[in-house]
Amino acid sequence: MADEGVGSEGISKISDVLSGSLNGKRARVRGWAYRARASNNLAFIVIRDSSGIIQCAFKKDSVPADVFDKAKGIYVESSLWAEGTVREDSRAPGGFELTCDNIGVICLGEAFPIAKDQSTEFLLDTRHLWLRSQKLTNVMKARYYMLGLLREFFDKEGFFEVAPPIITKAGCEGGSTLFEVNYFGDKAYLTQSSQLYAEIYITALEKVYVLAPSFRAEPSRTVRHLAEYWHLEPEMAFYSNAMNMELQEKMIAYVANNLASRHSDIVKACGQDPAYLASIKAPFERIPYTKAIEIVNANGGKMAWGEDFGADEEALLTKGKSMPVFVHNFPKKIKSFYMRPDPENPETVLNSDMIAPFGHGEIIGGSERIWEYDYLLQRIREENLDVKNYQWYLDLRKYGSVPHSGFGLGIERLVKWMLNLDHIRDAIPFPRTINRVYP
Ligand code: ATP
Ligand code: MN
Repeated sequence: MADEGVGSEGISKISDVLSGSLNGKRARVRGWAYRARASNNLAFIVIRDSSGIIQCAFKKDSVPADVFDKAKGIYVESSLWAEGTVREDSRAPGGFELTCDNIGVICLGEAFPIAKDQSTEFLLDTRHLWLRSQKLTNVMKARYYMLGLLREFFDKEGFFEVAPPIITKAGCEGGSTLFEVNYFGDKAYLTQSSQLYAEIYITALEKVYVLAPSFRAEPSRTVRHLAEYWHLEPEMAFYSNAMNMELQEKMIAYVANNLASRHSDIVKACGQDPAYLASIKAPFERIPYTKAIEIVNANGGKMAWGEDFGADEEALLTKGKSMPVFVHNFPKKIKSFYMRPDPENPETVLNSDMIAPFGHGEIIGGSERIWEYDYLLQRIREENLDVKNYQWYLDLRKYGSVPHSGFGLGIERLVKWMLNLDHIRDAIPFPRTINRVYP
């Protein structure tokens, strides 16, 4: 194999070396120098690849001089391969060491700009380099596994994944957070939600979901708002909101339980206890909005009927709880135009938010949709929306309309809660926030 490192012939993944199956044998690993230190007689390079890290040792008096010089000259984050004999060593991270006698430098590079104790801003400016860190690597692996589990869940439940447009004319979560697009001289927007499009598909496929970015020009700086986030939006024909909630809790338990059982190492490496995720079980508590206000106020909050929960109120609501809760039947006047009023209590709608515990807050918003033509038209007018942008949405209520429900899950909110991250920006590789669109 060439020193440039193209191809995989003769290369072992570090996880295979750490599994012990190569103990006593020769192996060549390839990747990046995670740590590098050298004395006059000894050079240690910890190499990382996508599967793990391993310590590689070079002894001056047992390797050719040029090999030792190269090993000594490696920078942190240089790319390279190293070859030697696999030895069990309880002092080495992962329990195995490679006693090396050969090395190939692919790109030596320069001193890496990220050292210990950098400021958060610096790490965000150098995100393109910081993404290699063990912390973010583990989080991005966990995120990938969670997305896989979500898809697996919906496959089993008989859903179809469908593709929405990203550029639209229809806002659905309020005009104030729309990003405008110059669409060949016309005004259009980046989608805030694909829900309205998912509602189209249910008349053919019955149970569908969209997994796509949503865009919100969020003016606030919080630890749980991004301007661009990944949004999972299932929509189901013939579902009431009660059925909707049952599906949501089943989905959350499925992801949590299987993440814990299949990927406990990654969960631990991210700082979460797999036993917590394993303990998440449906059903979740259902709290009517009015009761939720009382709980918030009893825990020291100051909320009046008709107000929405902020981060502080959601934390008060889940105080002392370790499982998510549903808050349902919000006042109609603070919710979106498409939500169906509760016939038993028409000032409220048939909706629910799922609130995660430990201050993580809302992760899902869901509802039963208005499926009657006249009433939907009335609500669109009441909200001062431009009827002509919603003509197609109204059409769905004219031809073969059926009761239906759906919900929206913020992927980064889910990742933040399940891995117990401090900030939502670490749940996505390239966070977009009010003051950041680089790198
Ligand atoms: P919040 O009150 O927290 O701003 P929302 O009521 O605006 O949320 P919805 O419009 O119901 O949220 O969107 C559905 C889901 O999308 C939310 O439950 C949340 O998980 C996620 N979400 C909403 N806005 C954002 C955002 N700016 N960044 C990341 N995720 C978001
Ligand atoms: Mn919002």
